[in-house]
Amino acid sequence: MDLSSISSPNCLPEMDAMWQETLNWCPTAAQQLQLQLLYSEVVGANHKLNLTRITTPEDFWEKHLWDSLRGVGDLIVSSALQVVDIGTGAGFPGLPLAIARPDWQLTLVDSTAKKVGFIEAIAPLLGLTNVRTLVSRIEALGQARQHRHQYDLALIRAVSAANVCAEYALPLVKVGGTAILYRGNWTTEEAESLELAVAKLGGEIAKVDRFMTPISNSIRHCIWLSKITDTHPYYPRAVGIPTLKPL
Ligand code: SAM
Repeated sequence: MDLSSISSPNCLPEMDAMWQETLNWCPTAAQQLQLQLLYSEVVGANHKLNLTRITTPEDFWEKHLWDSLRGVGDLIVSSALQVVDIGTGAGFPGLPLAIARPDWQLTLVDSTAKKVGFIEAIAPLLGLTNVRTLVSRIEALGQARQHRHQYDLALIRAVSAANVCAEYALPLVKVGGTAILYRGNWTTEEAESLELAVAKLGGEIAKVDRFMTPISNSIRHCIWLSKITDTHPYYPRAVGIPTLKPL
C-alpha cells in the first residue's frame, strides 16, 4: 500500500488509487477539498463538542470517510436516492455521502442538538445543498407521516444493537427500499435475533456484506435489509422501548 501521499499531520491522504480500487469511485479535486474541510472542521470542533475519538488523518480517512462510503457498496454509483442517516452524530455516514453524491438528498437525524447544530453550521461551509438536519428521537420520526415509508435508503452506524437498529430504520423505508446496518463484528446470535425482528417489521435480510478496511485491515459487516411490506403501525414503539425491550 502506498501511503507516501500522507505528508502533513492535518492533511488527509490523497488515496485516489485506493478509492478507485476499493469503491470504483474517486473524489474529484473539489470533492477532495470538501472531504479535507470536513476533516478540519470535525477536528477543530472536537475539543468543544466531543464529536469523535478518530482524529489522525489516516484514521479519519479510513474509519469515517472510507467506511461511510464503502458501507453502501455498489449504490455509490446508483441513481439518485432519498436517504436518511439515523443517529448521524457528527455526520457519519451522511456527510461523506452528501459530498460523494450531490444528487442524493440526505436527511441527517440525531437526538443530540449540539451535534446537529455542528452539521448545520458546516454544511454551508462545505457547499452542501443536499443535506437537511433534524433533532429528533428516531422512534418519533418513524411515526411521523412526513418521514414514515418515505426513504429509498436508511443508514445506521454505531447506534444500538442490530435488532434495535432495524426497528429504528425499517419504518422509515419505502417498500422496495433498503436499510443498511453498519456493524463491526457479526455473530450468529445477532443474525438470529435480527432475523426475528426484521420479519416483524416488514423486511428481510437481503445480504451480509463482509469486508476489511484497507489500512488497518479491520473486519466490517454491513447488513442489508430489504423492505418487503409496509411496517405495522405498532412499530417503532414509543421512545426508549426498542432499547428496553428489543424485538
Ligand atoms: N453514526 C455516527 C457515527 O458512526 O460516527 C454517530 C454514532 S454515535 C456512537 C450514536 C449517535 O446516535 C449519538 O449521536 C446519539 O445521540 C444517537 N442516537 C442514539 N439513539 C438515538 C435515537 N433513538 N434517536 C436519535 N438519535 C439517537
